[in-house]
Amino acid sequence: MTRDHVGATHIVRLDGVGRSYGSPPVHALSEVELTIDDGEFVAIVGPSGSGKSTMLNLIGTLDRPSTGSAFIDGEDVGRLSDARLSALRAHRIGFVFQQFHLAEGTSAVDNVADGLVYTGVPRTDRRRRAIAALTRVGLGHRLDHKPNQLSGGERQRVAIARAVVGEPPLLLADEPTGNLDSASGATVVALLHELNASGTTIVVITHDVELAAQLPRRVAIRDGRVVSDSGRAA
Ligand code: ADP
Repeated sequence: MTRDHVGATHIVRLDGVGRSYGSPPVHALSEVELTIDDGEFVAIVGPSGSGKSTMLNLIGTLDRPSTGSAFIDGEDVGRLSDARLSALRAHRIGFVFQQFHLAEGTSAVDNVADGLVYTGVPRTDRRRRAIAALTRVGLGHRLDHKPNQLSGGERQRVAIARAVVGEPPLLLADEPTGNLDSASGATVVALLHELNASGTTIVVITHDVELAAQLPRRVAIRDGRVVSDSGRAA
């Protein structure tokens, strides 16, 4: 966490961040300035190819900036070794994807418990915490179901349970409602709001206009640049 001169805490700070690929370079992101305070719920919106995934990968420490600095949870991502970066990611960040990315043939509880494998939590505690996380997302009655025995909305709730089982302060979601019908999508959105209300900072990429409209802050990007930012809600 970094603190500015008025003492606000930033879980994310992108300072003049650029990311380019290849040669001649494709500038996926250019000169991005973005701070996200602890406890915010932010939508990143923009057309396909505008740089949303590149930004989420940088915030998720899956990538390092080509220029500028990315501070995540107070750590300068460009200066951390791969091992320190992996540790930061495992302990401090949860990920949710459009395609759920659950292990098929593996029960809900084991899918969620696997979210703790890289955090050093002992096996029996992993199972206990997985049950608690599934109960929290309303799936305490589906512990032994495999992904193919669950609806799309239930699968995404398992994926969310896996992302938050280690209680990371930061949750990143890439089109979390993209594969869901509107009723299941609404359940998932309600769950994200609940997690945010209990203190998790959430950054979500979305094309879902309804979801974006409900969020306290929207950051729009186009051609790799932030073109509007509704700002932190008062
Ligand atoms: P979005 O998520 O908004 O669709 P991306 O962040 O995926 O946008 O991509 C932004 C731009 O960077 C696009 O022009 C894309 O083609 C380019 N890009 C993304 N990843 C790579 C890569 N690994 N190699 C080359 N170009 C890339």
